[in-house]
Amino acid sequence: MPEFDTLIKGGTVIDGLMSGRFVSDIGIKDGRITSIAGRIPASSATTVLDAGGLIVAPGFIDLHTHYDSQIYWDPWCTISGWHGVTSVGIGNCGFGFAPCRPADRDRAMLTMSRNEAVPLETMKEGMPWDWETFPQFLDSLDRTAKGVNVLAYQPLAPLMSYVMGGDDAKGRPATDAERLEMCRLLEESMDAGSCGWSAQLFGSNSIQRDFDGTPMITDTMAEADLLAFAAVLRKVGRGFIQGIGATRDLWEKLSEVSGRPIIYNVVALTTDQHGVANETYRSTLDWIADANQRGHRIYGQAVTTEIAFEFTLATWNLFDSSPVWRVVTLGGPEDRLVRMKDPEMRQALRDELDNAGEDGMRNFSSVIGAVSPPSRSTREATRHEEGLRGIHRRRDRGPRGQACDRRPARSRRRRQPRDHVQHAAAAVRARTDARAGQLELRHPGISDGGAHTKFMTFGAYPTEFLTKVARDDELVSLEHAHWSLSALPAMAAGFRDRGFIREGMPADLVVYDLDRLQMGPQEKAWDYPADEWRQVRTAVGYRWIMVNGSVTFEEGTGTGAVPGKLLRHGMDEASSI
Ligand SMILES: [Zn+2]
Repeated sequence: MPEFDTLIKGGTVIDGLMSGRFVSDIGIKDGRITSIAGRIPASSATTVLDAGGLIVAPGFIDLHTHYDSQIYWDPWCTISGWHGVTSVGIGNCGFGFAPCRPADRDRAMLTMSRNEAVPLETMKEGMPWDWETFPQFLDSLDRTAKGVNVLAYQPLAPLMSYVMGGDDAKGRPATDAERLEMCRLLEESMDAGSCGWSAQLFGSNSIQRDFDGTPMITDTMAEADLLAFAAVLRKVGRGFIQGIGATRDLWEKLSEVSGRPIIYNVVALTTDQHGVANETYRSTLDWIADANQRGHRIYGQAVTTEIAFEFTLATWNLFDSSPVWRVVTLGGPEDRLVRMKDPEMRQALRDELDNAGEDGMRNFSSVIGAVSPPSRSTREATRHEEGLRGIHRRRDRGPRGQACDRRPARSRRRRQPRDHVQHAAAAVRARTDARAGQLELRHPGISDGGAHTKFMTFGAYPTEFLTKVARDDELVSLEHAHWSLSALPAMAAGFRDRGFIREGMPADLVVYDLDRLQMGPQEKAWDYPADEWRQVRTAVGYRWIMVNGSVTFEEGTGTGAVPGKLLRHGMDEASSI
């Protein structure tokens, strides 16, 4: 009987704890790392994976996903699973499917088809709906085959809808009896293994809405109800809160009342239509730093991808904070087209751009900014500036350096007007700050995996972070990158034994070739149930991705293994740490 099931031989280990890299063999037995002992004889293992020249690092932890439905037809939660993610959090932003009575299932799916843009027919065909309560939903997740580990929030919207009724939950605060019942159910969810609760709190001007164009239940919920849910976490002494949209004061209040960590969404660098950076992320990071020093535990969750939305009139739904765009983008493509052709509607769209007050404009342009890459000319100017600096740094560095050198040559083809160059300079500075400044306060990782699948592929963020931020731009070390992609989110989510490499830990690992690592192009795939398509983006360079000691992907090809576990209370039952 060999001592190890698998031996990863000769890889360069980056342990996720910001230790300096070292070359070592790693022995794995029964799904766990049992030895990191320098040299281990090949004869002591059933399977030997030759990792010479490759990086061995902890699998990535993607806490912000909406794979609540997709996990039932795609156990690996792709595209995240392709990009080295080995654990996902579902039920973010207050949205999900439990608790839910059978009669309300269609409404629940309609809601998700709008606010997270998951295709309706796909959900209908792909979901088993073998639960009503949240604990039953966790049991269902436990039963279903998984290629990644999963932890689940109790989303507040279905909980409130279940007790108060969908319409009432939007119109008024809970009665005392309802609040008591909701808190009782939340406690039940926490006991069953929920990792905490989540809520989107954008208020009545929400940018991400329900099927009928009204704000989501949680957007307009009463503060007293919110604080009551926070108090439940204090009572059970476990879990954390994920949310988006509340004021800083309210986050601090929730932290105070719950006594638990907050995962704050989102730290993001946005730009206006000229590519000029908005400055809000700086004050966000300053506030997070200050709040943590005043006794709050607040983790910033950051968008670190270069946003590349690709959308059509038929698929887009994130202009909901604009009343007139909201009306235009409700319903299917035919409905939208009719409204787009209506002269009055067209005029209203023009008026909004021409005449919106400063607030309205800021609101609208922040959405546009958040969803627009810098304009082409700005981006090229940005590259030009970066390139000129980078060309000196990289000149001596072999084949990869030469590949980088090609970028500035391309961008030099067009002369840029001076103001664009200045805008670009601001954008570069801001991006550098956002990525490099106060790094310890935020983790990359708003993949929104499983959501908005027809226009974005943020699930590629680990690969993008490693290649662009760490390798090419050298804004962080690889050691730092792996800490922030794995150990930091693991800490935020209360994992006790994942997110870094150590003897005794579950073997959630990525083994990759840093030089070859890259994202594929964004492209359409017809691989969703009900013959639906989605945007995907593959990864190149991951030699092996391993979950609980079993390889799930080898050179981008799935092995079919489903070693993922439901992590109740942030850990699997066998965990001993
Ligand atoms: Zn979300």
